[in-house]
Amino acid sequence: MTHPQTAIVIGAGVAGLAAARQLRAHGAHVTVLESAPTVGGRARTLVEQGCQIELGAEFLASFYTRTLALIDELGVQRDLCRIPSSSAILRDGRFHSLWPSARLALTALVGTRHKLALSYLLASLLRHGPLLDLAAFKNAAPIDDASVSDYARAHLSEDLLEYVLQPPLAGIFYWTPERTSRALLMLVLRAGLSRPTGLKLFTLRHGLGQLPRAMAADLDVRLGTRAGAVERWPAGGYQVRLAGGGEPLAADMVVCATTASAVPGLMPWLGAERLALFRGVRYSATALLATGTRGRLPHDFYGLLFPRRESAFLASATIQAVKSASAVPHGRDTLALHMSGPAMDALRQCDDESLIGLMLAELRRLAPRYDPTPQAVFQRLYRCPEALPEFAVGHFRRLQGFAASAMEPPGVAFAGDYLGGPFIEGAILSGEAAAARALAALGHGKA
Ligand SMILES: Cc1cc2nc3c(=O)[nH]c(=O)nc-3n(C[C@H](O)[C@H](O)[C@H](O)COP(=O)(O)OP(=O)(O)OC[C@H]3O[C@@H](n4cnc5c(N)ncnc54)[C@H](O)[C@@H]3O)c2cc1C
Repeated sequence: MTHPQTAIVIGAGVAGLAAARQLRAHGAHVTVLESAPTVGGRARTLVEQGCQIELGAEFLASFYTRTLALIDELGVQRDLCRIPSSSAILRDGRFHSLWPSARLALTALVGTRHKLALSYLLASLLRHGPLLDLAAFKNAAPIDDASVSDYARAHLSEDLLEYVLQPPLAGIFYWTPERTSRALLMLVLRAGLSRPTGLKLFTLRHGLGQLPRAMAADLDVRLGTRAGAVERWPAGGYQVRLAGGGEPLAADMVVCATTASAVPGLMPWLGAERLALFRGVRYSATALLATGTRGRLPHDFYGLLFPRRESAFLASATIQAVKSASAVPHGRDTLALHMSGPAMDALRQCDDESLIGLMLAELRRLAPRYDPTPQAVFQRLYRCPEALPEFAVGHFRRLQGFAASAMEPPGVAFAGDYLGGPFIEGAILSGEAAAARALAALGHGKA
């Protein structure tokens, strides 16, 4: 850079922190504003009586190449722990493991006729391979033409839809197959299947919240500071007003790394056409019920997935002592239970006590061995009204439009998982790409 530029990043989730690190690496003076009292956004870890509780993201996948490289750069790779990829799907009172994927051939979860129908899906993955790039979701726009449910009913089978595809969509993203584009399914399947060593899952010794904490360590992050409005200076540059009052901050560049729903309030001057993109992004919802226990829970699986045919309320559960020995004190455990997206939408008004009662009653009905209540030492409920951005039919075309048109005024860039992909990897890639665009618009480097 010829002279140091100033940048404000709004939001200290992993997208905002990735952008801030990139801007600083290019010589900019960066200030990150975060409304919450801690960094991380939807990647935060609380510790309750020595037990880690993941308030959002719980695992990293082996196809998160940029995230894993960043973990190396940050010097925390020694804290990366492999999670046993032993998750199972419930059908008629029995859990069926699908991982490693070779088990699919043997599983009694679906019949042989349905397994054979999967070859159509594998052939489509091969055919569309060139469109399926995790670093460029917009490239998949040509196959953003059908929902997972329409696609599965037309080309696979009802059983595959309800017992193989729907449970992970609901249990990991809190989505429904009706509101998920088949383009997203293909992208994730290709990424998962393309690793020569198979799909592996990881966490960090101190929980996934360790990642944003390490990213923020040497950045100027102002916690508990909510940006209220971004205004343009007539002569160029921007001013950010703080919601709680105080001196506004001026900068050459602004990276807005909030969820999409916050953008219209921060920049109403963007105009109707641009604002429609942000307003059009819908988020799934969930509630997490974390129960700490004084003894161990059954440890045959890390993740339990509940198909909607089996439960109208629960989407998934994870057993934390199976995930990682450092997640709980020795001999103890935590069960993390997640409500399904549609149930959470319907039960938004329900009080905490009723939600907890409902979730535990459902768990006892479906999987009584995992009932943590008799040995519970704590119980905490957390609501996530904006859990994961939906990648419904039309979203990929929206991303393509975002990339093709002048969505970003010079010096402003947007970042977040709704642009880069609905997981940590997508959020980080979107943050780094946003920093590159903001710099390029001001004449520094390539977008
Ligand atoms: C329950 C759940 C489970 C998940 N599981 C996984 C998983 O296992 N693996 C995985 O890879 N991903 C998972 N995810 C997704 C992952 O957590 C997100 O994709 C990622 O963390 C999003 O990062 P982000 O920076 O885009 O957004 P966020 O993390 O939401 O960051 C936005 C930040 O902006 C701040 N902010 C908003 N408005 C303002 C304002 N006006 N001023 C200042 N600050 C503001 C917010 O407080 C927040 O910190 C999960 C998410 C949830 C909710």
